[in-house]
Amino acid sequence: MTRCDNCGSETTLPFTCQHCGGMFCADCRLPPNHNCTGIVSWNQKPRPAVGMSYSRGGGVSVTGGAAGELRQKSRKKETAIPYLWIMLAIIGLVILGLAGLMLAGFRL
Ligand SMILES: [Zn+2]
Ligand SMILES: [Zn+2]
Repeated sequence: MTRCDNCGSETTLPFTCQHCGGMFCADCRLPPNHNCTGIVSWNQKPRPAVGMSYSRGGGVSVTGGAAGELRQKSRKKETAIPYLWIMLAIIGLVILGLAGLMLAGFRL
């Protein structure tokens, strides 16, 4: 059994902090939860830490991602729909023009 370096509770699967090298339980494994000596590097690079999305990082990224998707979708609709209608109008005019020429040619 390994004891958590922070709270002293025994844990079967200790987490090793990548910033200070200590062994901690699930509750203390995040640098802010064990007064990590390497918390400066953790603050500079919050993303690469394994399992960060497990707690507060996940909530932030999930909401941010959803908002980003909504923004991208709205942008695509704003730009794509007029472009599509213009393309359809041009194609329609070309087809009508060709059909008119064909009919005129046959008649002549
Ligand atoms: Zn602990
Ligand atoms: Zn640490």
